[in-house]
Amino acid sequence: MNESDSERIAGVLENIRYKQTFKIDKADLIVVNMCSIRQSAVDRIYGLRQKFNKLKDYNPKLITILTGCILKKDKGRFSEYFDFILDIKNLPNWPKIINNKYKILNTKYYLNIKPKYSLPKIAYIPISNGCNNFCTYCVVPYVRGPLIHRKTKDIIKEVKTLIKNNYKEIWLLGQNVNNYQGKLKDQDSKLINFPKLLELINNIPGDFWIRFTSSNPKDFSDELINIMTKCKKITPYLNLPVQSGNNEILEKMNRKYTIEKYKEIIKKIRKKIPDIVLSTDIIVGFPGETKKQFNDTAKILKKVKFDMAYINQYSSRPETLASKIKDNVSKKEKKERWEILNEILKQTALEKNKKYIGKIIKILPVEWKNGFLFGKSFDYKSVKIKGPKKLLGEFIKVKITNASPWGLKGYYK
Ligand code: SAH
Ligand code: SF4
Repeated sequence: MNESDSERIAGVLENIRYKQTFKIDKADLIVVNMCSIRQSAVDRIYGLRQKFNKLKDYNPKLITILTGCILKKDKGRFSEYFDFILDIKNLPNWPKIINNKYKILNTKYYLNIKPKYSLPKIAYIPISNGCNNFCTYCVVPYVRGPLIHRKTKDIIKEVKTLIKNNYKEIWLLGQNVNNYQGKLKDQDSKLINFPKLLELINNIPGDFWIRFTSSNPKDFSDELINIMTKCKKITPYLNLPVQSGNNEILEKMNRKYTIEKYKEIIKKIRKKIPDIVLSTDIIVGFPGETKKQFNDTAKILKKVKFDMAYINQYSSRPETLASKIKDNVSKKEKKERWEILNEILKQTALEKNKKYIGKIIKILPVEWKNGFLFGKSFDYKSVKIKGPKKLLGEFIKVKITNASPWGLKGYYK
């Protein structure tokens, strides 16, 4: 979501004739788009003070802006580091704030601003912003505010323009895409839910892939599984964050599903889409998590055999409900729990990836470095191959020769 916001910021700045530079000492304007999901993300901002002071000595004209997900208490602290702290939702007014000679943009809603898409032929499309779920560990509802759905017609319009411009991968973004509710026309009484939105996008003619994130298990429906099965442009990849394998912890997290319900969703989806690539998010060391409760998370990892898991060590976030409970799992213990899960993941991920050896698969290269292309397959496997830069953003066929837990290697056919 922050990357997508950065693309909109870049769009606005290019409109007032700023050009992107990769040389920070040449910049006249620096925007830092921060994340607050864990304390480690916030801590990175502290390191910028000295750097910015040096840059300002060198270029007194330099303007620095902080935006993104910022907690109230950090806003005060960071106000000394930056010339401006600006709310992303106020993006239409940024030009005027930066310099009075510029006008306010003629849209009130920042998601309707045209982004400067930064990846070759891959586009992030937010379908909502904010979150009302208030999982007890999570800062998102406090920093991004209440859930707002984007209008269906605006989403479809953005996707259609992208497909016309030969975009090949469309990412629908939201903190919980499964509870999307929009309208095709303002006067419509009928609401478009997430599966219906996927179907509408799938029906747009063109050769492209559809991906989405995040999908909260509490709102995962059979209708979504059916649409994923039916619509051929929707990629067979699903990130379904479980967070914990223990029902007491899930309840304390306010996740509103049980581990039994989670397992049932996985069973249903594997029945309909047997080769689905599955990833999950996990938090280890939630306040009060006992060894036994943690073992339930290890068990679910072993049972489901995920292709990938984003394993996070719990970080207490100010303002959240969980921050009122004592963070009593030591740093050392959290790290050990993280390592145990990472070992399980390494084994299941390698087992899954080995199955690709010898196969020919389609990939979309997104990055080129020192003669190598990096991209993802239709089912979201990371693939590295030797190849020329000109293939960036083109679908190519690759024969897989090697597999590690974190990706595949092959050669261009
Ligand atoms: N909306 C998504 C999650 C967005 S945050 C969902 O509901 O699944 C991305 C991930 O960061 C979460 O899935 C969680 O695993 C992790 N995370 C969030 N808050 C955290 C915290 N306080 N400490 C550690 N990890 C956290
Ligand atoms: Fe955070 Fe829960 Fe909302 Fe996801 S659903 S953003 S974890 S509060």
